[in-house]
This record gives sequence, structure tokens and C-alpha cells, in this order.
Amino acid sequence: MLHFIEHAVFTLVLAVLISIYYKKGPQQFFRVIVLALKELPGVKTIIDLILKNEVSSFVKTTSLAQDVVKSKPRVLIPEKGFTAEDMREQMKNLQKRNANPERDGNVFAYQYTLYDDNYKLQQEAFDLFCEKTGHSVEHDELVKEFFHGFMHENALNPIIFPALRLMETEVVSMTSAMLNGNSEVVGFLTSGGTESNLMAVKTFRDMALATRPNIRKPNIIAPITVHPTIDKAAHYFGLEVIHTPMASDFRADVKAIEQAINSDTVMLVASAPQFCHAVMDPIEEIAALALKKGLPLHVDACFGGFMLPWVEKLGYPVPKFDFRVPGVTSMSADVHKYGFCVKGASVICYKNSDIRKYQIYAYSEWPGGLYGSPSMAGTRPGGNIAAAWAAMKALGQDGYIDKAKTLMDTTVKMIKRIKNVKGLYIMGEPCMTAFAIAARDPNINIQAVADAMETKGWKMERNQLPDSLHCSILPHHIPVADKFLDDLEDATNYCRDNKALAKKGTAGVYGMMANIPDKGIVTDFLVEFFSEVYKCK
Ligand SMILES: *Cc1c(COP(=O)(O)O)cnc(C)c1O
Repeated sequence: MLHFIEHAVFTLVLAVLISIYYKKGPQQFFRVIVLALKELPGVKTIIDLILKNEVSSFVKTTSLAQDVVKSKPRVLIPEKGFTAEDMREQMKNLQKRNANPERDGNVFAYQYTLYDDNYKLQQEAFDLFCEKTGHSVEHDELVKEFFHGFMHENALNPIIFPALRLMETEVVSMTSAMLNGNSEVVGFLTSGGTESNLMAVKTFRDMALATRPNIRKPNIIAPITVHPTIDKAAHYFGLEVIHTPMASDFRADVKAIEQAINSDTVMLVASAPQFCHAVMDPIEEIAALALKKGLPLHVDACFGGFMLPWVEKLGYPVPKFDFRVPGVTSMSADVHKYGFCVKGASVICYKNSDIRKYQIYAYSEWPGGLYGSPSMAGTRPGGNIAAAWAAMKALGQDGYIDKAKTLMDTTVKMIKRIKNVKGLYIMGEPCMTAFAIAARDPNINIQAVADAMETKGWKMERNQLPDSLHCSILPHHIPVADKFLDDLEDATNYCRDNKALAKKGTAGVYGMMANIPDKGIVTDFLVEFFSEVYKCK
């Protein structure tokens, strides 16, 4: 009897939920689910089903470039290899697929270098960029040659490959000098910002565990705007992140950081600048706090490391953020962002080699011999090291300054005009070649503005909590900046009078996500998405 009632209740709940889902849409559905019903038996299964449905219909709207390589579901290694000629043809088609001509110049993250003569607009952008900065095609050719020249070599063994060892040491040295480190500063080259930040967290965890026997569950104090790689590191390495709020200017709130510190805290993290709004955390104040509490401070300059030093030299006001500040213990800086190198190169620097030792992993009992490795990767691609070295040597400080100047000119021009678009504003005080655009007028939904921009071919980077649009200014924006600003003004005016737009498209999805108080459901959605999108259909 009891069983029958349970069954009936379940069926009823199911019917109600399904009707809410189909009649009112996922937004209402999730509201009902999380507010009232989450704990009822069977509801978890329903949430999972709905999530799968939402994800798979979303993934269907995205494109997998399968047609261009003529592959079928479940791809096998071809029984007989293709000819080189055929392969080259496929490469051309694949490249075209990545950069739709109408999409060229339209991304505000990911691609920092302009290199490919397949892309018409990028070629134009490239020519203009070269003209303005003295940059040349040769730079990219050169970086490519170095990459090719060492791409089969492996920095796992510094004895067999002394040239890689030399180039890595020099890249680290050039980077630390650029960040005003003294001769004590040392570091390693990694595969990217993620690995650099992972390594900083691992290093300070191990340093604390070795020197402070009373630590129970190590934690990191970081502003909510810190890059998620810090959360990822904490997740991988068994630490906890205590997030502190932003101040009203979107910088880290130093008082909140001080209050959050406890006896299990092993490090503080701040960003130069944080990626979301390109606003610089108050590094000097946080570093003073770190010194007072005897804690290390990692400054994540993955984004700004290869831009801020030149912006400062150009005379723009840049608050002190690097090794000049006493209390800064480590810094990460990505060569593959504004360092204008190929993907797969970042530097992690430490104040001295006593600290850096905690990054190194060694194991002496393997039958295969003595094993040691400085970072996450075992095999470390030589091509990336050589390319990073070549990029920095070939550009030189003057090359970096020229690029920074051109990109800052464009940034300043864009910020000025966006400030004059009715209803929009720039969040906080951006300190370099990036900013975030938000709506001041409550009648404008900035996510809907992003949707409108996307119908014009732009690919927008969406911030949340609060909603805004991130723009990194990159070489390909130089020739299209004015067009972007015209389109932004039009899109803003269009959305001001069209409130229904906030409920549609991606704006609707963000609205829905913002309405789900249980962020676990949102992360489930993301996991489901990544699981689906990397399937060969
Ligand atoms: C890009 C970035 C990272 C992560 O770097 P990846 O190269 O994407 O691994 C970390 N922190 C900041 C501030 C970044 O901009």
C-alpha cells in the first residue's frame, strides 16, 4: 500500500514537472525543482534527464567540422594512409572551418597572434598591424621555424638536451627581469597559465606542510575574481579556496582577505590584472598583509605579465604589481598570450630557489631509474620552449613596446566611445588592453546585447555575477574596432526597447542559470556539456 502511494505521488510529481518543463520552459522548471522538490525520490533522475536533453539540443546547435574530413561515426585510423597531397587539402579545409571569414577579427579572447594567410580579414589586419608596429611576417615565420626546429625534442631530460635547458633558463630569466625580479628569482617554463598556477598552489601547499606541522586542511584565500585555475588546483591537490568578495571598484577587498585568513591558510592569491574586468587587485596592500601574516602571495599575471610592463613604460598609470613589491613570492606570466608566442608556453617564477624546490617532484625507487620532473607534464615539448625563446629574443623590448602602444591606442579609443554609449559603462578602472562593458540602464540586458552582437557576427565573452561583456583587445581588432563600436551602439539601442530579448537565446540561458540557486545543477550542466561536445557523432 505504502509502495503504491509512493509510486502514485512520484508519477504525479513527474507529470507536473514535465508539464512545467514543456509549458513554461526550463527557467520555471528549475525554479520549481530547486525551491521545492529537489529532495523528493526520483527527482534527481528527472533533473538528469532534463539536463541531458538541454545539453544535447544545445550541442546540436554547435558545429563539428566532420564533413570537411569525410569521416564517419566512430573514426578509425585509416587502413591505408592518405597521401600528403590529400592531407594538405584536408588541412586547408579544416583551417577554413576554424576561421570563418565573416568571423575574423571577432573573438575577444583565445587568439593573441595574427598568423594565417588563409584568413582574408586577418591578413588585412595583419598588414595594418605590421605597418603600425613595425611587426613583420618574419616574426611569425621565425617563431614557427624555432618551433619546428625543436618539436621532437624533450625537456624531460635536461642533460640530453642542453640547448632546451639553455633556452628555458633564459626565458625564465628574461621574464623575471621583465617583472623586476632580482637575480635570486628563478622559475620554470610550463605549458600554460593553468599549469603555472597549479604549480604555485602545489609549491605553497608543500612548503606549508613541510614547515608548519599544525596545518589540518590547507586553504587558499583568493578574491572571487581570481582565475578558476586556482580553484582547479585546489581541487586537484586537496586544498580549499576561501573566496573573498570584490570591492565596489571590482578589485579585491583587502579587509575581507584579512578576515578570511585562518590557521590553515597556506597562501594568498591576487591578480595582475584579474581577467574578468581587467582591473588590478591592490597588490601592494595585499602583499603588506601577506608579510604581516607570514604568508606567501602568488600574483597571477598570466594575463598581464607580458603587457603591463610595457604599458607602464609607455607612461600609463600602472599600480605596482610585480617583484618590486615586498611580499610578492611568486608570479605567473603567459608567453602564449601577450608574449606573442605559439600556444603552450607560460612562466612560473619564485622569489628564490628555496621556494622553487617545493615544485619539483622526485621519485627514487622506480626500476626504470631515478625520476624527477619539475612540473605537471612529464615529456615537455621542446618546440614550445624554443618558440617562446625566439619570440622574446626576436621582438625585443622595443617590439613589445610598439605592440603595447598600438593595442593601448585602440583600447583607449574603444573605452572612450563606449563610455559615451547611453546606458553602458566600463566596469572599474581597467589597467591594460582589456575591459568589461556593463549596462547602467536597468532597461538594457547586457546578455541580450551580446546576443544581438552575435547575430552581427561578433563572438562575445560573457561575464556573470554581475553580467557584463569581457573584451581583450587583440591585434585583429585594430582594423575592426570602429565597426565593433557602431554595432555595439546599435545593439544597445535595439535591446533597450526590446525587453523580451532578455528571455531568449543565450541571454535566456544566463537568466536561467542566474535563477538556479543550487550551483551544483549548473556545474552538472557544464560537465554534461563537455562530455557531449567531445563525442564523435
Ligand atoms: C589565461 C589565464 C589563466 C590560465 O591560463 P591558460 O593559458 O588558459 O592555461 C590564468 N590566469 C589568468 C589571469 C589568465 O588570464
